[in-house]
Amino acid sequence: MEPEIENQIRRCPRLGSPVTLSYCMKCNENHRPCGKVIDCWWECFDIKSYLKKTLSAEDFQELVNQKPKDKVTSILELIEQAKNR
Ligand code: SF4
Repeated sequence: MEPEIENQIRRCPRLGSPVTLSYCMKCNENHRPCGKVIDCWWECFDIKSYLKKTLSAEDFQELVNQKPKDKVTSILELIEQAKNR
């Protein structure tokens, strides 16, 4: 990853605290990107081009095509991830 891009910071709507893009890129299970990474970062820079460059074609398509999860499902997943750390 490019340091000037990965060190960008924004407020995470899920955690309520600042996070770097590098966190968003690996905070899901198996160090995969957060499912909201496009929603959260598109206003800051061209996140889609960045993801295309960084991820495999398969992982990129999976991220772009995934359906939004409801809040309860997202919260339960976050709790599960926190338990596993
Ligand atoms: S992409 Fe995920 S981890 Fe990153 S700010 Fe958005 S909700 Fe938070």
